[in-house]
Amino acid sequence: MHSHPLPSYLDPQHPGAWGMYLEQIDRVTPYLGPLSRWVETLKRPKRILIVDVPIELDNGTVAHFEGYRVQHNTSRGPGKGGVRFHQDVTLPEVMALSAWMSVKNAAINLPFGGAKGGIRVDPRTLSRGELERLTRRYTSEIGIIIGPTRDIPAPDVNTNEQIMAWMMDTYSMNEGATATGVVTGKPVALGGSLGRKEATGRGVFTVAQEAALRLGLPLAGARVAVQGLGNVGGVTARLFEQAGAIVVAVQDHAATLYKPAGLGVDALLAHATAQGSVHGFAGAEALPRDDFWRLPCDILIPAALEGQITATNAMHITARLIIEGANGPTTPEADDILAERHVLVVPDVIANAGGVTVSYFEWVQDFSSFFWTEDEINARLVRRMQEAFAAVWETAQTHQVSLRTATFIIACTRMLQARELRGLYP
Ligand code: GLU
Repeated sequence: MHSHPLPSYLDPQHPGAWGMYLEQIDRVTPYLGPLSRWVETLKRPKRILIVDVPIELDNGTVAHFEGYRVQHNTSRGPGKGGVRFHQDVTLPEVMALSAWMSVKNAAINLPFGGAKGGIRVDPRTLSRGELERLTRRYTSEIGIIIGPTRDIPAPDVNTNEQIMAWMMDTYSMNEGATATGVVTGKPVALGGSLGRKEATGRGVFTVAQEAALRLGLPLAGARVAVQGLGNVGGVTARLFEQAGAIVVAVQDHAATLYKPAGLGVDALLAHATAQGSVHGFAGAEALPRDDFWRLPCDILIPAALEGQITATNAMHITARLIIEGANGPTTPEADDILAERHVLVVPDVIANAGGVTVSYFEWVQDFSSFFWTEDEINARLVRRMQEAFAAVWETAQTHQVSLRTATFIIACTRMLQARELRGLYP
């Protein structure tokens, strides 16, 4: 074994999301057989780009923001993963998110590696014009490493179809030709795919159905708690309610609400859209933030940010089933506590893979300039998610490991097989 000096970005005192990911890799390594000789590859991102993003604000002053694009692994294909605009974005966080994209894409067997980008900014403080200038300058700065065959961004926290349209336009202007395939999650009028917006939530719901079936837990009448009512949490909550489940609790950045009889998802989402938060929604009990993790429920859907389910709150969780809509919501210590308490966790890298799966369909449609119907897209999405879940379930049974480690076994085996077949250059 050769010695590997610690990379500069690793702070053992504050492991954060990247530390969580490294721990997950350590847990899968014993199951990788001879391929484990390549595992160090997965502990280092292939390529990291940090960019300064200066923009002129509406008041005439110039503001600088820090932007990132990390390509974690490209053994199986171009980089693929979203772009996040958030005031707390850091480089190690984007590194972890890019690595989870590699695992996710390999777990679903999409022909992509993993990448992620972000800007350290609170987009709520920007006007629409400032947001557009920020997006365009960032796109131009990362333009030296992205492209339809190199690395394909998509929406993530606080980014949406409009931002993808500006990214596509900026890249295309610089190239001198319209390149729809450079980003996914675009508006349908610009080469986007039907069903893409709802795809992550639909995928979360599909794996929830599969997991609940295996637990003997009927969805009709099941009590559901959702953290985060963005694109993922909102669609997921709606699909659960349509299946007869009762959404009893929600938490967003501003409020925690509980109503045992059911909150009523349509009214709740309408309130959140109008007010910017669920805060003040009539008829529900408002609770302190930490109480969210103790509320009586059968299914818990973290659909916000990473590091939410921790050693501190994992012992209070009442749900039998956790479906990770967010990326990285559960720490490895919490994973152990939940396993001991027989709470089944369907990990992010399979549970929220519906979004990037339809991103793949969008990319394929853009390349062939031939577009599919929404029914075709949804049917293919559901089939792929069901097949991937079944493979993960079987691997977990075979090795007697968690669904997270099982997903990592499948994904890391695929990535490292590709690595070995390609060989080291030069
Ligand atoms: N941001 C989403 C994720 O975390 C989607 C990425 C994509 O479609 O490329 O999976």
